[in-house]
Amino acid sequence: MLKKCIKHVLIMSAALMWVVAAESVQAYRTDHGFLPPGANVCELHVPVTLEVPPNAKAIPDPFNGEFSHGFYHIEEIADGLFYVTDGVYQSMFLLSAQGIIVVDAPPSIGVNQQDPTASISIVDVIYSIPETQGLPIRKLIYSHTHLDHIGAASIIQEAFPKVRIIAHRKTKEQLRSGTGELEGLLPGAGSNPPPLPTRTFAKNKTVRLGEQVLHLSYKGAAHEPGNIFVYAPNQKVLMLVDVIFPGWSPFTNLAIVEEVPEYIEAYDEALAYDFETFIGGHFNRLGSRADVIEGQRYIMDIKANALAALQNPALFQIFGAAPENGLGAFSIYLDQMACDCANRTLDPNVTPSRTDWLSRLGTADINTLSHCWEMGEAMRIDPSF
Ligand SMILES: [Zn+2]
Repeated sequence: MLKKCIKHVLIMSAALMWVVAAESVQAYRTDHGFLPPGANVCELHVPVTLEVPPNAKAIPDPFNGEFSHGFYHIEEIADGLFYVTDGVYQSMFLLSAQGIIVVDAPPSIGVNQQDPTASISIVDVIYSIPETQGLPIRKLIYSHTHLDHIGAASIIQEAFPKVRIIAHRKTKEQLRSGTGELEGLLPGAGSNPPPLPTRTFAKNKTVRLGEQVLHLSYKGAAHEPGNIFVYAPNQKVLMLVDVIFPGWSPFTNLAIVEEVPEYIEAYDEALAYDFETFIGGHFNRLGSRADVIEGQRYIMDIKANALAALQNPALFQIFGAAPENGLGAFSIYLDQMACDCANRTLDPNVTPSRTDWLSRLGTADINTLSHCWEMGEAMRIDPSF
């Protein structure tokens, strides 16, 4: 009798579990994937609008015909230091009686989007102003390896075979290890595998040409191993590419950072320089100290809000969603953690700085979510925090 009773209970239990499982499968199906019944599903409160806040508006604005040369813009910042942009990418060059120092060679600069047949090379762009006439390009500096910033370097080397190419030694190592198999995917017209640096350094290097001076410094992988600070002390200009984006939330996932703690430190490292103008390598305007400070405040908000999301007990129940697929449940948990962090960051009544980031930084509505994911995951596992 007892055996029969136990058997009956077991059958009933199995049936009940099947019913619960079947119902749960239905309940788990949401736009976010599988979630446990009653789980605190995070809906991002902020609609994506693609609106550009006033702080992120283009200066100069190519859509109002404010570029010096129609589809690209060259402007002297101070004392022979010029920056050049196509509205999305930035590079700079310095003039002296001995020649020109160029920092980065983005393949997009010189590409005429309206009329590709009228496109010109980065060399043509540099020599389209009277100040550069008769001066050879003597030195070329790579800020880092990424081809969207140095994919036109070979054009400079073809025009000036003796050009000295300077980069961090890790940049050279990475460039040397490239196979060239993806050459067809290189960004921009006229983009080619960049020539290897002819001079490398490990920590600091001073580059001089005539009266022009640049201090190069490697402080860690704020974007990737080998990405350097480029500082012009005479003009008080600091260039750091793909890390800080004046007026804008960084490119997705903290600008595809490899080391989050070193990314965070880069803001203090930048502010330690005595600079007035900041060149971030991207987007549509130059930056100031105030821009870097504001960007740092945004990142500190994300850090605090990622911690709060990691400590949110309402999200922990997601781990029970699929005992047979813990990896999947954990990925969902991370997405929900990022969503919770993003909602906190974009609510000026909640985020620690009490800033309305949507009205301050372009793409805050789009990229904050990925920054929160990157930050939260790094805080969970990176011992540097
Ligand atoms: Zn990059």
